[in-house]
Amino acid sequence: MLTSTHDLLETARRNAYAIGAFNIYNLEGVKAVINAAETTRSPAMLQLHPSALKYGKLPLVALCMEAAKTANVPIAVHLDHSTSAPDIELALQAGVRSIMADGSPLSYAENQKFTVDMTRLAHSYGAVVEAEIGRISGTEDGLTIAEKEAKMTDPAEAFDFARRTQVDCLAVTIGNVHGEYKSPPRLDFDRLDRIRRLIDIPLVLHGASGLPPHMISESIQRGVCKFNVNTEVRQAYMQALKAEICGQSPKDLLDIAGEAIDAMQEVITEKLELFGSVGKAYLHETPHAAWLAARQFR
Ligand SMILES: [Zn+2]
Repeated sequence: MLTSTHDLLETARRNAYAIGAFNIYNLEGVKAVINAAETTRSPAMLQLHPSALKYGKLPLVALCMEAAKTANVPIAVHLDHSTSAPDIELALQAGVRSIMADGSPLSYAENQKFTVDMTRLAHSYGAVVEAEIGRISGTEDGLTIAEKEAKMTDPAEAFDFARRTQVDCLAVTIGNVHGEYKSPPRLDFDRLDRIRRLIDIPLVLHGASGLPPHMISESIQRGVCKFNVNTEVRQAYMQALKAEICGQSPKDLLDIAGEAIDAMQEVITEKLELFGSVGKAYLHETPHAAWLAARQFR
């Protein structure tokens, strides 16, 4: 069931759990997310990083949309980390109703202008917008942000930004990083509390791969209701392919694909359990069209 990100996040927030948003690149990734969500009766999100969009273009978007529509649990499709107005427009025209307008590489003023423009555009399609304030370090899909360029989210700036841009959810930087954590993760929960007190929209934490369970649950208690997961799932995929292709007994292509799906599904299932969304599919009953009808866009 293709579902609005708004419904997924608000329902999760009201019921003190979080939604797992998983980056996918191909059919195997999509199947792994849908299988894990259906098996555990959990809502989930399929996310396309701009590099995946560049690679798969409209056929990959269509695959995600169709998989979401035919799933028997609530699934949203989201464009992750887009810094490109044409890409955002392409995704909106292809039916995606959840986008991240990522102006975090820009100055604060430019980020604000980009986010305002993209939010207006997305809202004209009835889409939900995630933005980022602060800057997350680490590596994702070949893009590396050095630690010295990273910037923790300033609560007052986040408040001003959310109010002026009218975004629907906000990605925060509180010590989370993309890719692998080089040293044990340390999250600034006081900062998260200060942001939470000032801002009433759902908060998102990127870089959930490698966060220990107690940090996940503490983040949820303090207002995070979406976690982005990429690294651990793609590592499981690559390792499974390597093991199967280089294994002693050669296997058929579809058997190898199946092993890779199983490996990713196992990681995704673990994350859904940690996020507390297992068994919560029944709470998300609002189809996107009903949500749109109920909401007045600015
Ligand atoms: Zn991210």
